[in-house]
Amino acid sequence: MSKAHFGLVGLGVMGENLVLNAERNGFSSVVYNRTYSKTEAFLNGKGLGKKISGASDLQDFVNKLERPRRILMMVKAGAATDAVIEQISPYLQEDDLLIDGGNALFSDTERRVLELESKSFGYIGMGVSGGAKGALEGPSMMPGGTKASYKAIENLLNKMAAQVDDGPCVTYIGPRGSGHFVKTVHNGIEYGIEQILSEGYDLMKRVCKMNCDEISDVFGIWNKTEELSSYLVEITEICLRTKDPTDGADLVEKIMDKAGQKGTGLWTVVSALQLGASVPTIYASLNGRVMSSMKSERVKAEKVFGKLSIERTDLGSPSNGMSPIMDAVVLSTIASYAQGMEILRLASEEYKYDLHMPSIAQIWKGGCIIRSTLLQRIQDAFNNEPQLTNLLMDPWFAEQIKNRLPGLTKTVAVAAQTGVPVPCFSSTLDYINSYRTARLPQNLVQAMRDCFGSHTYERIDKEGSFHTEWIN
Ligand code: NAP
Repeated sequence: MSKAHFGLVGLGVMGENLVLNAERNGFSSVVYNRTYSKTEAFLNGKGLGKKISGASDLQDFVNKLERPRRILMMVKAGAATDAVIEQISPYLQEDDLLIDGGNALFSDTERRVLELESKSFGYIGMGVSGGAKGALEGPSMMPGGTKASYKAIENLLNKMAAQVDDGPCVTYIGPRGSGHFVKTVHNGIEYGIEQILSEGYDLMKRVCKMNCDEISDVFGIWNKTEELSSYLVEITEICLRTKDPTDGADLVEKIMDKAGQKGTGLWTVVSALQLGASVPTIYASLNGRVMSSMKSERVKAEKVFGKLSIERTDLGSPSNGMSPIMDAVVLSTIASYAQGMEILRLASEEYKYDLHMPSIAQIWKGGCIIRSTLLQRIQDAFNNEPQLTNLLMDPWFAEQIKNRLPGLTKTVAVAAQTGVPVPCFSSTLDYINSYRTARLPQNLVQAMRDCFGSHTYERIDKEGSFHTEWIN
């Protein structure tokens, strides 16, 4: 029997769909899963009639693959990935390639690359975005490792990836943990946009007193605009329109208001802080999830502080897409991307990743969760000005800010007056207002630091480092 082109370890929802994707694109495959019954179920189910075989142990799995071997691991991130690497490493030979497609913490990938340096096989840490559907139909993939390793799987990945006008949604990202780093930041941006769209929904519901169908219509209008057309706006429209089959009521209104997180949002914010990137919109979205998880405390607090009684307040009309709210959503979405790109720019310098920003924007245009038409503008912005320090400074984005700042300001003001929390909108407003302010009040912070701790300060009128005896 001829050997298979491609091997997959881990038959979770992502692994199953990725191997079906590879097979559809002409790569015969062999699969291995720790629990063999899942392998059997897959081969007798979705894998039936396909050029996919199974193996019950890793030695058999490796033997069924043509050399050099290309093996994708799609297992739980963390200890499970380490376990699979340890178990499979003894069977791998020169030029074989092991790819971790899970949501690894980028520093784990950096560690694994160091640990595997003495081995002769190659290692790629690859971010995969697009959820189950993307994995099957074409995801966005962010592979990091050596260029030689990437070349060995370029053809396979190009075929498996989502396709957009200017090519497949995969590219060589950079060395070591860079692929997983970029995927982490992608998820941080995703956290931001999900919270932003939820804040828009909340204002339309509680302040504008609109029902789910009316709100859904607005998301439909937004999805037709260049600024907001995106996968997340598209699925928000669908979520809001979906009814509970048992009684026909709006399904979202029956869902518990607690959002989970698996770590990538947290890793994005921690990385941003370590790198000195200002990411208040993304941080606010993470904090929104943390606050949401404190459900029982919030229920108690509402009793203590009193339930809000919110009067209907004007925030635009559905026919104009609830213009001030749309402004808030557009600018906060832009801020989310800008802050993500800022983390990448700083990480590229700090970790010597040599990231190519236009290519990253390009591979996010299809397949992945944050795909949007705005990414074309982001790609253009970094193509036009490769040294761009902040997306907000690109002329097209700067124009958006000038035009939409009054709408964002109005939205945040109404939210504050009515008591509806809008952490991403208000953080974005502060972010933009801070960014466009040449002189911030940190002169006083410096004075205080020097006063209590003799930390010294710089002056605006002369060079040097100064200390004052503030208290006589
Ligand atoms: P998952 O639930 O995260 O992982 C399930 C797989 O991990 C199973 O094959 C399981 O084997 C295996 N596994 C767990 N512990 C193991 C261990 N100690 N040794 C060997 N195998 C072990 O599945 P998933 O949702 O398909 O995700 C796979 C990876 O892709 C994860 O890293 C995830 O973070 C990442 N990812 C997921 C998505 C998504 O939308 N789901 C999107 C992008 C990336 P058993 O069957 O034997 O338990």
